[in-house]
Amino acid sequence: MPKAQALTTPTISTRLLATAAGVTGIMLLLAYLVAFDQGALSQSGTYLHELMHDGRHLLGVPCH
Ligand SMILES: [Zn+2]
Repeated sequence: MPKAQALTTPTISTRLLATAAGVTGIMLLLAYLVAFDQGALSQSGTYLHELMHDGRHLLGVPCH
């Protein structure tokens, strides 16, 4: 009879966790800049807003 294998617990490396947190932060910042920024964070006036304007409407983000 084959011996049962012990169940292994999954390990999460701190490097993977840090990478995932960094990527999530960058994606959240990009989503904010594309969807909600009105120049307050980007300090670009309405440039970024106008650049992403069609994308905002495509995604259904309230705009004007
Ligand atoms: Zn609009």
